[in-house]
This record gives sequence, structure tokens and C-alpha cells, in this order.
Amino acid sequence: MAKTLRLILGDQLNSQHSWFQEKSSAVTYVLMECRSETDYTKHHTQKVLGFFAAMRAFEQGLAEQGHQTIYLKLNDENNEQSIAANVSRLIKEHQFDRFEYLLPDEWRLDQALNELCKKLSIPTSACDTEHFYTERLELKEMFHDRKQLVMEYFYRNMRKKHDVLMDNGEPLTGQWNYDASNRKKLPKDWKVEKPFLFSHDLSSIEDELKASGVETFGKVAASAFIWPINRAESIELLQHFLDVCFRYFGDFQDAMSQREWSLYHARISFSMNLKMISPKEVVDAAIEHWRANQEEVDFSQLEGFVRQIIGWREFMRGVYWWKMPDFAEMNFFEHNQPLPKWYWTGDTKMACMRHAIQGSLDHAYAHHIQRLMLTGNFALLAGCDPDEVDAWYLGIYIDAIEWVEITNTRGMSQYADGGIVGTKPYVSGASYVHKMGDHCSNCHYDHKKKTGEGACPLNSLYWHFHVRHRDKLGNNPRISMMYRTWDKMDAEKRKAYLDQAEEYLSKVDYI
Ligand SMILES: Cc1cc2nc3c(=O)[nH]c(=O)nc-3n(C[C@H](O)[C@H](O)[C@H](O)COP(=O)(O)OP(=O)(O)OC[C@H]3O[C@@H](n4cnc5c(N)ncnc54)[C@H](O)[C@@H]3O)c2cc1C
Ligand code: SF4
Repeated sequence: MAKTLRLILGDQLNSQHSWFQEKSSAVTYVLMECRSETDYTKHHTQKVLGFFAAMRAFEQGLAEQGHQTIYLKLNDENNEQSIAANVSRLIKEHQFDRFEYLLPDEWRLDQALNELCKKLSIPTSACDTEHFYTERLELKEMFHDRKQLVMEYFYRNMRKKHDVLMDNGEPLTGQWNYDASNRKKLPKDWKVEKPFLFSHDLSSIEDELKASGVETFGKVAASAFIWPINRAESIELLQHFLDVCFRYFGDFQDAMSQREWSLYHARISFSMNLKMISPKEVVDAAIEHWRANQEEVDFSQLEGFVRQIIGWREFMRGVYWWKMPDFAEMNFFEHNQPLPKWYWTGDTKMACMRHAIQGSLDHAYAHHIQRLMLTGNFALLAGCDPDEVDAWYLGIYIDAIEWVEITNTRGMSQYADGGIVGTKPYVSGASYVHKMGDHCSNCHYDHKKKTGEGACPLNSLYWHFHVRHRDKLGNNPRISMMYRTWDKMDAEKRKAYLDQAEEYLSKVDYI
């Protein structure tokens, strides 16, 4: 009987995949923990624990269903510590006649598996993960003859193509986008629900990690691990979101607050990115919930949520496969400064940054607006090297897998792609942070002050950024108003801004 080896990567835990519909003693599934994956960047401990725990649970589930499985733990003696080397060894040892794998979502692994298949002397094939709405190159096909990628255009096409929130070819409510109603600040006395957390004892995996010498960072209570590690828990987390958070999701999507760390966000990215749950399941569940609870859940909350998933998430996947590997090298502003040291400790006097970074270190999570308008904004204003910024984002977040991390970081947040993902850099001074958040009242700095003792660093850095990149941004029609404001300022004021920014940049590790 011909024997097939099928590889499942750590972010391919899709139990609904057609592979698993039939059981066959001729097919063996392999999952493996490798140093090549723990070491390509320095990861948050929770990220490594979460991946390994979910992989182990997935393998156990397959074995219980009667599938043949092989699982290589990190410290197994015969673990070659790279996916290709392990696969080659297993094929030889077990005399497999065929090798199959699921298409990776990461360029590096795609290349590695292509190379491996060229070297193997048995037939090989790759198949789709059956997870996304889109094919790898669908966005490229849609936009290949257009000058600028526009997410909104893509999103509307996705709604039409997949018949999501549509009525006879028109948007269900007559309006495509409710973005304008997604910009509320949390009211002062508003009580935010506590996040819904799991509690897994992953101490033994933590011990294995320590024994192996893998370097990780961030905090973890390994005996009470808070993230979902299987499909059932992913569904439970989604249900909690729908029951408790959904009704406020869109309203407070851009809100920032020190009162809670995840506010009304779904925290479903880890489950989706590991494919424990599919975007279609999430979107369908949200629509169903809205249909049954329309008095409580306004359509704008639903549309805002759906847009993130069939819009932004699939859009980023498309950008990644179209623009890699060049995308990973882009540095439009030629930024080259190191990330301030406090990105690794949260030890800064800026209350908004401190809260976002300490939350990230504590939970391996920050919500979108913290990633974009706090840590991302500061790194861009301070001229940090996008390689360093990428490495930080890729390491710290539990949901960070390169296809969705790099497009968001290098593209959306750092504008290092020169405008592929966004039409202008996302930057702000203190006024935005104050408008959308509640950190400023507890800060060492004064959000209203632009220069002088106690002035919020964001204010002068904002102008410094624009002035130093006028050659690159001056002709952007979306920013020209800002340059006109600058030009109208008196020379002394402009000098004070720039001097203040220089001062902060010269002691950026200590602000
Ligand atoms: C600098 C930066 C880095 C980021 N890195 C990652 C990353 O490594 N992995 C990751 O999954 N997301 C990343 N994002 C996108 C977004 O911040 C996260 O998906 C979101 O915070 C995850 O939390 P949530 O599940 O609570 O999201 P919610 O706010 O509840 O949104 C629901 C879902 O929509 C999707 N989504 C929302 N915004 C985006 C987006 N911009 N791109 C892709 N999907 C989106 C996610 O799947 C998310 O789970 C990044 C954003 C920025 C600005
Ligand atoms: S004053 Fe500035 S640094 Fe402080 S919380 Fe407000 S925006 Fe952040």
C-alpha cells in the first residue's frame, strides 16, 4: 500500500479541512515544533506556548478520530529542528511514497517547501488550506491595471462576490460603509466588561521551552494561560464576543482606554490566524447574531466587524502575496533609528505608550488602534528602522504571522511601502490620542503643550516628521493642508517645534 505523509504547519489547524473527512491507514499527518520557527524572531512567551498548545491539542484530536499521526516535540531527540530536515528524515525512515502539504501563508515557508519538494525523489503536491475567502493572487488580478490599491473598492467587491450583507446586488441597508460611526470615545463613567479568559495549565510546555534554551520575552502565567487553544474554545470566545461586546464593537472600535486592555474587540485573530476557526464562520455567526438581535445590535456594529474580516484581513493577504518578497525590504522614508528601549519594558513617562506596551507584554495583545496610533505612530514619528519595528510586532503579538503582521506594520503603520496599503501615513499628535482616549489626564506630559517643559512629545515629533519628509509627502493631496498650516506659522514657532523634537529624539530612551 502506497504511504503518504501530510504536513500540517502550526498555523494550519483547520479541523474542517477536506483532508480529514476520510480516515486512511495509508495517510500519516505530521506536526512539528522546530527551532527554525521559535527562533526566526524573538517571540512573546505566550505566542510560543499558544502555538504549541494548539498544535498538540490538534494532533490529539486527529489521533482520537482515528487518523495516523506523528508529533515532534521541540526537545525530541530525533528532531532536526527544521521542517524540511524533519520531513526528509521521516520520508526515509518510514518509507513514504508521497508527500503532501497545505499551502503556507508565509513566504519563507513557501520557499522552503518548494525547495524541499524539488529535492525529494517521491511525488509531492500542495493543496489549499480551505480557510480564506480569497486566493493568494486574487487581489493582484483585481488591481493589476489600477494605479492605486483601494481597500474600499476591494471590500465592496468581496461583499458582492460572496453575497455578504447584500440585497439583490445592492448593499443591504443602501449604505456600504459605517466607518464614520466607528469613532466614539468611551464615556467617562462607562463600565467596560472584563475580558473573557481561559485558564490552561501550560507549565509543562513552559518547562520544555526553558529546557530547550529558546529565548522568549513578555509575561506569562503559564499555569493559567488565557488564550483559546482549540476549535471549541475559539467558538466559545466568538460567542462571548457576540453576546457581550458586539453591540459596542463598531462604536468603540477606535477608542483607547486604560480601563481595560481589549475593550469591545473580539480577540479572535489568534484563533483565526491558526485556522481553528474560519473567517466565513466568524462572519456568518456575526450576521446570524445580528439578525436575531437587531434591537440590541445596530447594523453599524455588524458592518464594521465584517469589513475588518472580509475587507482588511483578506486585503492584507492579497498585498502580501502580490508584493513579497520585495515588501519586506521597503523603507520609503529611509528610517534607520533603533526602537526606543522602552518598547521592551513599557518603562516610559508617556501614559498612552506605557499602557499599550505594558498591556502587550502582559497579554501578547493590543487592539488595533493601540498598534496603529500609539506604538506604530511613535515609531514612525521617531524615524525607527522598519526592520526593527517589524521584528517587534512579529514577536510581541500572539496573532503575529508575517502575512498579516508585515502588511499592517511596514505597510499600514510605517508607510515604508510608500503608499501601497494606505494613501497617507497614519500619524498624529496628542490631540487624536486625547480625543479618542483617557490616558492624557494621568500623564507626565501635557497633551495641550507643544513645546517647553512637559510638552507632549507627540506634538513636536508630528511636525518634525512632516518637515523632514516634505520632499516625499509634500505633493500628497491628502496632506497638503497640513503643509500650508506649517508654512503659515511664524518662524520662531516653527523653530521651537523642531528644536523640541530634536531634544526628545536625542533622549528618546528616557522620555
Ligand atoms: C502595526 C500593526 C500590526 C498588526 N499586526 C497584526 C498581526 O500580526 N496579526 C493580525 O492578525 N493582525 C494584525 N494587525 C491588525 C489588527 O490590529 C489585529 O488583527 C487585531 O487587533 C486583532 O485583535 P481582535 O481579534 O480583537 O480584532 P477586532 O478588532 O475584534 O477585529 C476583528 C478581526 O478583524 C481582523 N482585522 C481587523 N483589522 C485588521 C487589519 N488591519 N488587518 C488584518 N485583519 C484585521 C482580524 O482578523 C480581527 O481578529 C496589526 C495592525 C497594526 C496596525
Ligand atoms: S499627553 Fe501625550 S504622551 Fe501623554 S497620554 Fe497624552 S498623548 Fe500620550
